[in-house]
Amino acid sequence: MRFASIGSGSDGNGTLVQSLEGTLLVDCGFSAREALSRMAEMGVVAEDLAAILVTHEHSDHIKGVARLANLCRIPVYATWGTWASKLNGVLDEGLLQLISPHEEFAVAGLQVQPVPVPHDAREPCQFVIEQDGKRLGLLSDVGSVTPHMVESYQNCDALMLECNHDLAMLSEGPYPPALKRRVSGPLGHLNNRQSADMLSQLERTAMQHLVIGHISQKNNHPDLAMEALLSDAICPESIIRLATQNSGFDWLTVEPRTETV
Ligand SMILES: [Zn+2]
Ligand SMILES: [Zn+2]
Repeated sequence: MRFASIGSGSDGNGTLVQSLEGTLLVDCGFSAREALSRMAEMGVVAEDLAAILVTHEHSDHIKGVARLANLCRIPVYATWGTWASKLNGVLDEGLLQLISPHEEFAVAGLQVQPVPVPHDAREPCQFVIEQDGKRLGLLSDVGSVTPHMVESYQNCDALMLECNHDLAMLSEGPYPPALKRRVSGPLGHLNNRQSADMLSQLERTAMQHLVIGHISQKNNHPDLAMEALLSDAICPESIIRLATQNSGFDWLTVEPRTETV
């Protein structure tokens, strides 16, 4: 299994997850045309996509989903709340695969476990994707860390984790007060400290890749996110990568676990 990003942040998100049987696109917060061109940079064409998975209906995650799916006949996996909010009447009905945020499903040889999360959307969920015992966790757009999230993301071999903002930069930054309250609130986004706290509660011995995702260009700096994740030796620097808004990150392979004799 390997994964890559075509862009990450409040202007658009899209994560590619690939097995030998096919490729998933998790969220498409770019126009269909833009997404296709960004995917081409990663060597992926529309015909490679076995499915689009949608975490929630905010435009930085759903903008191009219906158009790309309708155009290229790609099944879309989404919760009822996500569908009702932004896909109903737009996505061709035959392409919808309704998911329960509590039930695992299989697609393209990958086992996908949705994880319900606190965020200000209708029925948001994030995903842990598994193949042959290897676990890839994708987690962004979360305002609070819940016990169920901590339980669900244990023992990941790779994790893409939101480090949205630095609290001080947000409070001194350009956002209007209401937006500051929304972003830092319990249904908003994780700040660097919350992400580091979440990470510190996870079993991390198998972790090969930790990707900083959904970083705010106005209210955070990669150095501050890195500093938080490195504090208290939560994580070695060598496994940390940054997903950027402009180009995401290139393919990272999740290697099979080495057997201990
Ligand atoms: Zn978002
Ligand atoms: Zn969101």
